[in-house]
Amino acid sequence: MSKRDYYEILGVSKNASEQEIKKAYRKLAKKYHPDLNPGDKEAEQKFKEINEAYEVLSDSEKRARYDRFGHAGVNGNAAGGFGQGFGGFEGFGGFGDIFDDIFEAFGGGFSHRRKSGPKRGADLKYTLDLKFEEAAFGAQKEIKIMRTEDCSVCHGTGAKPGTKKTTCPKCNGTGEIRYAHNTPFGQFVNVRTCDRCHGTGEIIEVPCSNCGGTGKERRLKKINIKIPAGVDTGSVIPLRGEGEPGEKGGPPGDLYVYINVLPHEIFEREGNDVICEIPITFVQAALGATIEVPTLDGKVRYKIPEGTQTDTIFRLKNKGIPYIRGNGRGDQYVKVKVQVPKKLNEKQKQILREFAKATGDTVHEHKKGFFDKVKDAFGG
Ligand SMILES: [Zn+2]
Ligand SMILES: [Zn+2]
Repeated sequence: MSKRDYYEILGVSKNASEQEIKKAYRKLAKKYHPDLNPGDKEAEQKFKEINEAYEVLSDSEKRARYDRFGHAGVNGNAAGGFGQGFGGFEGFGGFGDIFDDIFEAFGGGFSHRRKSGPKRGADLKYTLDLKFEEAAFGAQKEIKIMRTEDCSVCHGTGAKPGTKKTTCPKCNGTGEIRYAHNTPFGQFVNVRTCDRCHGTGEIIEVPCSNCGGTGKERRLKKINIKIPAGVDTGSVIPLRGEGEPGEKGGPPGDLYVYINVLPHEIFEREGNDVICEIPITFVQAALGATIEVPTLDGKVRYKIPEGTQTDTIFRLKNKGIPYIRGNGRGDQYVKVKVQVPKKLNEKQKQILREFAKATGDTVHEHKKGFFDKVKDAFGG
């Protein structure tokens, strides 16, 4: 099934602001909300589609990926976060405030089922600095991220080791309390999270002292990443399931590693090509020479022809950066800069004067220094 464009689904333009997207989403979400369209499969499908579009377009990173790569850029994510667990519009996170707004609009407490349902964990972002060569040829890197993990003492139960959890007597372990609720649209069953057990269905008698009964703790987690050859600043490596853990059985979020390539002393990069500047002497430029050129693979010898002008660019084929997808590499461009010598001794000057004479040049050498001439001009 081909997927519809997310902007089209929300009926907004490609450069819509966050506010416009939010507004469009609210309007549509109210219209197609399953509780207002009971049994209407089409409305349910629409509602699902709207939420999927909003999940991506409301998140600046996901939106950027979608703009660049289309559905492929955000797909894995959407499939994990949606589809599954979509029993009644439970099972997706990140809509808290907006749903609260909608529910309030219907007279409050419309339905809070989602609060006790599984929630996908938050995505994490990490910026990784890479050396020029690491980005070019790939690397194995270890990063450390702070994220929520199961408590190391109680292994996530929240109960002090050796003590037990008991079923919540208020909700009988369901984590929910149901009320019948009359609205202008008819009667709805209103479900609230149990306030005694906060939706877990269990009561901890003696909470774990390490995590205070939450079962979670923030820990530094080491993750190994294989960096493919050819990444550049702005490349994003998604690590599925390495984000924050989900809640109540929800899937974990993803970790997005943003690449930042550090500048190189000699090389600059343009796409997959490498650019560098090499100084040559005016004699080498005039007579031609074999010069040493640094490349990513080490030094190579390159023959420049006689009469080479400054700023001439030579191309070294396949000495650039490997393409991230597919085979081959970019090229290296070498720009030569002809250096004019600054400190010549008398003998060298004499040779140049003779050279000038041989080519018919007239040379007016300044015998006085600049400051002497300034003094002369001002009568000092
Ligand atoms: Zn604990
Ligand atoms: Zn309870």
